[in-house]
Amino acid sequence: MQLTGEMLIGHEAVRGQAGSQRAFNPAANAEIAEPPFGFGSREDVDRAVGLATRAFDPYRNLPLERRAAFLEAIADEIMALGDALIERAHAESGLPVARLTGERARTTGQLRLFAQVVRDGHFLRATVDTAQPERQPAPRADLRLAKIPLGPVAVFGASNFPLAFSVAGGDTASALAAGAPVIVKAHSAHLGTSELVGRAVQRAAQRQGMPEGVFSLLIGAGRDIGEALVAHPGIKAVGFTGSRQGGLALLRIANSRHEPIPVYAEMSSINPVFLLPQALAARPEALAQGFADSLTMGAGQFCTNPGLVLAIDGPDLGRFVDAAAKALSAKAAQTMLTPGIHAAYLDGRAQVDALEGVERVACGSEAAGQANAAQAALYVTDAQRLLRTPALQAEMFGPASVVVKARSVDELLQVADLLEGQLTATLHLDEGDHDAARRLLPVLERKCGRILANGFPTGVEVCHAMVHGGPFPATSNPMYSSVGSSAIDRFLRPVCYQDLPDGLLPAALKKTNPQGIWRLVNGAMAQP
Ligand code: NAP
Repeated sequence: MQLTGEMLIGHEAVRGQAGSQRAFNPAANAEIAEPPFGFGSREDVDRAVGLATRAFDPYRNLPLERRAAFLEAIADEIMALGDALIERAHAESGLPVARLTGERARTTGQLRLFAQVVRDGHFLRATVDTAQPERQPAPRADLRLAKIPLGPVAVFGASNFPLAFSVAGGDTASALAAGAPVIVKAHSAHLGTSELVGRAVQRAAQRQGMPEGVFSLLIGAGRDIGEALVAHPGIKAVGFTGSRQGGLALLRIANSRHEPIPVYAEMSSINPVFLLPQALAARPEALAQGFADSLTMGAGQFCTNPGLVLAIDGPDLGRFVDAAAKALSAKAAQTMLTPGIHAAYLDGRAQVDALEGVERVACGSEAAGQANAAQAALYVTDAQRLLRTPALQAEMFGPASVVVKARSVDELLQVADLLEGQLTATLHLDEGDHDAARRLLPVLERKCGRILANGFPTGVEVCHAMVHGGPFPATSNPMYSSVGSSAIDRFLRPVCYQDLPDGLLPAALKKTNPQGIWRLVNGAMAQP
C-alpha cells in the first residue's frame, strides 16, 4: 500500500498543512524520503474531536455484537496489510522482524480478546437491586447500575511497541471496546507504521458501518497537536505510554482544564529483582543467564526491563555477578528505536558512571559502525549507597542494570521500602526463602502492580488476570491496568437508574436480560 503522509479524520484522509516531518530509519541513521508526513493544526484537532463527539452516542448505543465485530474487523484489516506492515515497522524502529511478527499477533489477539469481552457483557458490571416496597422502616426503590463509556479518548502510542501499544494497540482496543471513540496522536518514531494501521482501522470502521468519527489519526509534534488534543473540552480521557516527563506534562494539562479528566500514563519503572539466598546459592549461573537475556531483549527497551537486582552479599552473589558480566559482555549491541532514545540511554549511563561507589562490571560488545546501537551495561553498588542516592532509581531506558549488595534481609527490606512505585517486582526463591519472601511481600504489594516468582518481568501476557500498572511513577493512576481485559475499566463509569420504567432502561438492565449477560441481582451473581 502506498503511504501518503496524510492524517485520517473520520472517513477522510487529510493533508496536514502545519509543517511536516519525514519518518526515520534508526539502523541506517537516515530519513526515509517519501512521503513527508503533514502536521495537523488546531482546526484539525477540532474537526476530529467534533466528529468523535457526534459519534459517541450512536457508537456506544450500537448492539454489543456490532462493536465486537468492529474490533475483529480491525484485526482482519491489520493482517491483510501483510508483510508491508512488518517491513515498514522494521525500517522505522530497528526492531527485528521476528519480534514485530510476534507483536502483530499480540495486537490482533488483543483486539479479538476485547471483542470477546464486549460480547460477554460482564464489563458492564450490570447490577440489579429490586424494589422492596414492604421494607421497614422505609421501602427500597428499584436500583440498577451499569457502566457507560466516559466519552472520546485521546491515545498516545508508545515508541517501543509500534504495533501492540500504538495506533490499534491496547489503549485503542480497550477504549473502542468500552464504547469510546478514539483519536490517536501518531508517534513521531513510526509515522508510516501509524498510517498503515490507521488506514486499516478506518477501513474496518467503514466496512462495519460505524459512525464517522469513531476513529481518527492525527500527526504533529506532541507539544503542539498532543497538548491541544488533551486540552480539548471534547476529550474525556487520555491513554499514554512513554517518558515520565511526557506523561506528567499531559497530566498537568488535563488537571488544569475547566473540566479535569483522567490521564492513564504508563511512565517509568526499574522492576526490582530480588535473588533470595537459597535460590541464589542453588543456581547463580542460571539466574545470571536468564537475567542477561531478559535485560537485553529488544535492546532493553521494555517498560518491564529488570533495571535493579538485589541480593545479600557473599560468594553466591559474586558468582552471579561474574556470570552476568560474562553473559552481558558477549551480547551484541542493538539498534535503539530513535536517536533521541539512544542519546538518553548514553546520558543515563554517563550519570551512573559518574556516581561514587558504583562500579561498572560489564559492558556489551562494541557497536562497530552500527548506528544508534546500545551496548549492555552492568553496575554494582551496595544498599547504603542506593539508600542515599535517588539518582540510582532513575530508569535507564535500555540494556543497563544495577546490582545492589545488601548485608541482610533487613537491609533488603529497607531498600524495598524506599523504592518508588513499580510495574513489577520479582522474587527468585526456593522453599527455604519463604520466610524472607513473607517479609518482603507486604512491602512489594504496596510498591507494584505485578509480583513474579522465579521468572523475569519482561513478557507481559495479555489475559484477564494481568496487571500492568502500579503506583507513581510506574503510572499516573495505580487503580488500573493498561494491559489485559481489565484495561477497559479505565474508560468506563457507573450510572445508577432508580425506578426507571423497564422500556427506558439500557438493555443490560432490563427485566428480561435480552443480552443474556451475567448480572449481580440482589447481591448474588445470576446466570444469563
Ligand atoms: P515520549 O517522549 O514521552 O513521547 C511519547 C509520546 O508523547 C509521543 O507521541 C510524544 O510526541 C508525546 N509527547 C511527549 N511529550 C509531550 C508533551 N510535553 N506534550 C504532549 N505530547 C508529548 O516518549 P518516547 O519518545 O517514546 O521515548 C522517550 C523516553 O521515554 C525514552 O528514552 C524512555 O526513557 C521513555 N520511555 C519509557 C517507556 C516505558 O514503557 N517506561 C516507553 C517508551 C519510552 P512526539 O511524537 O511528537 O514526540
